[in-house]
Amino acid sequence: MTGKRAVAQLLQHLQSVGVSHVPRVTPIARRVASAVKPAASRQAPPTAAQRQSAVARPDEAPQRARLPSAGAGRDQDLAVPAALPEVAALVQQSPSSRAEREQALCALQGIVAACARCEQLASRRTQTVFGVGNPEARIMFLGEAPGREEDEQGEPFVGPAGQLLNRIITATKLRREDLYICNILRCRPPGNRNPLPQEALNCREFLQAQIDVVRPEYIVCWGGVAAHNLLNVQTPVSRMRQQFFQYGSAQVLVTYHPSYLLRNAEAKKLVWEDMQFFMQHLGMQAN
Ligand code: SF4
Repeated sequence: MTGKRAVAQLLQHLQSVGVSHVPRVTPIARRVASAVKPAASRQAPPTAAQRQSAVARPDEAPQRARLPSAGAGRDQDLAVPAALPEVAALVQQSPSSRAEREQALCALQGIVAACARCEQLASRRTQTVFGVGNPEARIMFLGEAPGREEDEQGEPFVGPAGQLLNRIITATKLRREDLYICNILRCRPPGNRNPLPQEALNCREFLQAQIDVVRPEYIVCWGGVAAHNLLNVQTPVSRMRQQFFQYGSAQVLVTYHPSYLLRNAEAKKLVWEDMQFFMQHLGMQAN
């Protein structure tokens, strides 16, 4: 497969799952991107069949492509992992009731628990950190990857950053049980480093399945890693705040990660402004 064709396939796949724009691309990808029809600003979420047709079948060798590495600012060779038919089957069932969604997420969690796509992460993890919360939440919170406490407890956002996130949630009218919370990665990177682009791509199928099952109206990306990987952009968080981006049927809001706030107390004010912006959009008054 030529590099151009591989890039075209991946761009089409990204758009099929709702990435509305691909602003920073290699020269070859830029030429291909110009030939790909931009996604509508409010498009229906892609069907499981559409997504399935856009990724490699399990019996196919992984495709290799050159894509910009989100956040890293340089090109890397990425291998698209073969899609898992059992994941596609869960999504294709289109679970709608709370019980059906719970069941689908539970089954997906079991599949994730056995995943070893990222050899380094799988060999070091205490457990996978799948996601928690309301299976029919209107709002999904998306972080980057489990840290030490999350790896030990198997839940996202339970360390110091998670405690700060709880305080932010309490300060709004939101309740943690009304949210669904997950990460770009389901395994802890060593030393809490940022997810590698290949790791994010490996785990994307699981994130997408969680989004497809929960079907949130809003996704709040906590930090640049979450935003850059979800939306395939490299724009600084400072320039993404207080506006909505479209991802499938969800509106995406971007703000700083709580761990950034722990290191930069002055940024707390900015996150509070972002939460007030969000609450106002939801027709709610923050405390
Ligand atoms: S990070 Fe995701 S893709 Fe990688 S091993 Fe863990 S569950 Fe699998």
